[in-house]
Amino acid sequence: MPDNAVLRSVLDRAAGGGRISPEEALDLYRSAPLHALGAAADAARRRRYAGVEHIATYIIERNINYTNVCVTACRFCAFYAAPKDTDKGWTRDLDDILRRCAETVELGGTQIMFQGGHHPDYGVEYYEEHFAAIKAAFPQLVIHSLGASEVEHMARISKVGVEEAITRLKAAGLDSFAGAGAELLPERPRKAIAPLKESGERWLEIMETAHRLGLESTSTMLMGTGETNAERIEHLRMIREVQDRTGGFRAFIPYTYQPENNHLRGRTQATVFEYLRMIAVARLFLDNVAHIQGSWLTVGKEAGQLSLHYGADDLGSVMLEENVVSSAGARHRSNRMELLHLIRTAGRVPAQRSTTYEHLVVHDDPANDPVDDHVVSHLSSTAIDAGMAHPELKLIDAQ
Ligand code: SF4
Repeated sequence: MPDNAVLRSVLDRAAGGGRISPEEALDLYRSAPLHALGAAADAARRRRYAGVEHIATYIIERNINYTNVCVTACRFCAFYAAPKDTDKGWTRDLDDILRRCAETVELGGTQIMFQGGHHPDYGVEYYEEHFAAIKAAFPQLVIHSLGASEVEHMARISKVGVEEAITRLKAAGLDSFAGAGAELLPERPRKAIAPLKESGERWLEIMETAHRLGLESTSTMLMGTGETNAERIEHLRMIREVQDRTGGFRAFIPYTYQPENNHLRGRTQATVFEYLRMIAVARLFLDNVAHIQGSWLTVGKEAGQLSLHYGADDLGSVMLEENVVSSAGARHRSNRMELLHLIRTAGRVPAQRSTTYEHLVVHDDPANDPVDDHVVSHLSSTAIDAGMAHPELKLIDAQ
């Protein structure tokens, strides 16, 4: 274990904008005192955002889950249904999807995340048709959706290369790739939890192709399924290396594995401290990624607030609908007013942002805060029969 003077000098260098090596990042992750780690990451954040360092952003979006039918059977996933499991599997028709888009616009949402299983029949054509229909009806909605895994799958179904698939998705209206499917990029933990997914190298190769074709993305990491600290840092290293070439990752978003209803059965889970340390080390190590997103959905609201003091500059979204991690046990719900309160009581000025992080509304005067209490996270709405829904889901179920 390095002594405190060595750790201090690495922290100072990273806080000042200097690059640190993967080995130094691992030392910090394992051994740096928590408060010193957070203070260095916060200094790096303030340095990057000098002039607007008092602001923390959020977005209003909706996840639209178009199907849970999936051939890939990831061991951490509580959302999917195997194709033969016809009692559990479902798909949404286009009218239903467009209705959900209309509600998103009505509630002030600016982005949709189209997210679903690897359906055995859905090739590139399915996404072209849906994206084109969404864009025709709601040109103001940003389609920030899919990830390398979906692209690999749909290209295989359509018997085309990923470059053609991405080009066609972009032409049909896809604005931005979500970082879905990254899970853990190093080979050992990826094979352990998602043996049928493409390799981490292939995931990065597809994202690199997307960046080259003009589609930026975010990047994610699933923490807590039994990976080692060294594997977590290796995941960061793999992202940083691609980012040095493309600059196409707008943000890095770690989130924690949820233990219910999946094959892993919650035998391992990341703690809040591990999560906060990851936020901080990501801010220091990923010197080429602009935004580090804290999360309240999987780690809770107080941990989300703390993340803003450990290097995060964004607190994610009011998710008007979420079914994937909530199927595995994420229970935290929020609404827009509460999110403003969380950010403000963490000592920051909240600002609603766009997909590309422009500030749409800076809430610098609480007297002017929105009072629309319909802008609420709807979790696991697909798991609830119509008529049994939470009152705040009436907007969807009434139609
Ligand atoms: S994480 Fe995605 S690819 Fe894996 S089983 Fe779940 S829905 Fe399928």
